[in-house]
Amino acid sequence: MNAAQSPDFDAIVVGAGIAGLYQVYRLREQGMNVQGIEAAPAVGGTWYWNCYPGARVDSQSHVYQYWFSDEMIEEWDWGERFPAQPETEAYLNFFADKFDLKKDFRFNTRVTSADWDETAHVWRIGTDSGEDLTAKYLVTCAGMLSVPKIPEFPGSEDFKGVIVHTARYPREGIDLAGKKVGVIGCGATGIQVIQTIATEVGKLTVFQRTPSYGVAMNNHALDDEERAHWRAEVPELRKRINETMTGFAFDFDNGSWHDHTSEERTEILDRLWEDGSLAMWVGSFPEVFYDQDVNDEMSDYVRAKIRARVDDPNVAELLTPKDVGFGTYRVPLESNFYEAFNRSNVELVDLLEAPIERLSEQGIVLEGGREFELDVIILATGFDAGTGALTQMNIHGREGHALTREWGEDIRSTLGLQVHGYPNLFTVAGPLAPSTAFCNMTTCLQQQVDWITECIAWVETNGKEAIEPTREKQDAWVAHHDEVTQETLVVKTSSWYTGANIEGKPTSRLLSYLGAATYKEACDEIAASGYEGFSVS
Ligand code: NAP
Repeated sequence: MNAAQSPDFDAIVVGAGIAGLYQVYRLREQGMNVQGIEAAPAVGGTWYWNCYPGARVDSQSHVYQYWFSDEMIEEWDWGERFPAQPETEAYLNFFADKFDLKKDFRFNTRVTSADWDETAHVWRIGTDSGEDLTAKYLVTCAGMLSVPKIPEFPGSEDFKGVIVHTARYPREGIDLAGKKVGVIGCGATGIQVIQTIATEVGKLTVFQRTPSYGVAMNNHALDDEERAHWRAEVPELRKRINETMTGFAFDFDNGSWHDHTSEERTEILDRLWEDGSLAMWVGSFPEVFYDQDVNDEMSDYVRAKIRARVDDPNVAELLTPKDVGFGTYRVPLESNFYEAFNRSNVELVDLLEAPIERLSEQGIVLEGGREFELDVIILATGFDAGTGALTQMNIHGREGHALTREWGEDIRSTLGLQVHGYPNLFTVAGPLAPSTAFCNMTTCLQQQVDWITECIAWVETNGKEAIEPTREKQDAWVAHHDEVTQETLVVKTSSWYTGANIEGKPTSRLLSYLGAATYKEACDEIAASGYEGFSVS
């Protein structure tokens, strides 16, 4: 293409999950010629890939939805307070079908390269189908937990059974009845798998390195009355979710920990525990993130809940986190996870005592030689979060900027939405924003898509070619991010929240703890100022 030719598309959107579908819809409504590209054969994103047993949303369905269409809210009936994966995937298909979005996607297609053409001012997108597509804008909605972390255990090729990562679980399922199954990992995903399959398998061996602070989920089926209640709340919810710290309908509404007597605090914690939602975490007290003494007390409260549910005191001790503070990474919600360890067919193996040395033909061998015979190994070992999808995309900006190299050294972004050196590239759920999972995801993703949509409209209306943040603007955002992050207790815990789960990844430049509402204000101010701090050509 030379400078005089038009690009193939006004915009290319990568991903057909919650954000990608909405982004295609919004840009198309704006009259743009949009092409979506999706690696999976169908829509759903996270909710397509994570079809492992027990996969379920940790936000209440009444806040886990699109807000732009009254019709959609009226027509879709959520079945549960916390919907399972099939229902969530069905919801996204409902959205895609209602607005005829599937025709705008190339499925089974992975973006393998993206190069900014400095002469033509377009992105050149290469795919694994061998296509070379051009677009003025590139919007990545590729998910913040979409690249599985698959540990390379020596001897993996020797194992004769089935080995699978939870995010690549076969759609048709695996027959686990009566089988010897091993699960590696006890994060939010491992918890959901373990509690779901414990009753089905013959023998379940759980390989745990770091225990989690599971909070008991209070889930139930919704009836018409409750659905009507939440529909009536929609005008208020729509507003409220944009005003809270984490995009839920609850906030730190209990005031400061220090404003209460010990009895009052216990009463509040008991009430939050009963609610059985993430309110126990991001609807409790703000000090849980900032004050070590408060965090210690809240951690003790949850530890006592865990110990009370496990019969064997030694197993209870192993399942109880000790070295990390409650809520210093996203809290898993669980249903009968701890009770699973009271079953005679479930064994907990402490990898801190003896790590996995290798896989054998039969199963897993620990250092010291203990071997576990297994038919199936399920890897619930997490993700290369926030940056993984983007650093795999082979993105090159202007004048030699290469995202994989740059983020390999130092993760930098402006608002988590644009990166200096990469004109017209927008990164939904990119690092340094609350949307990298310090949020009710649907709130933060829609807010970012809306901002991008307005920004692109502004560039077009003003007859411009390209927009990107200046280096100074980006430096200021990164500095502000670091300041906010370093004040939190999050930096004291090694987890995927800091990037520490991936060897060699720069740490503590992933999530923003600024708060969703404050972040939205910062984004809105930039738009209102005519994109001050951005260079527009
Ligand atoms: P994760 O929190 O990173 O947990 C991975 C687990 O695997 C950890 O226990 C980790 O132990 C272990 N592990 C990793 N590599 C290992 C190795 N080589 N040997 C032994 N153990 C190893 O990942 P996740 O459970 O997939 O959860 C990630 C995020 O996904 C959650 O925080 C949540 O935001 C999201 N999620 C949400 C839902 C929901 O909405 N309901 C459900 C599932 C997941 P170490 O900690 O010791 O490394």
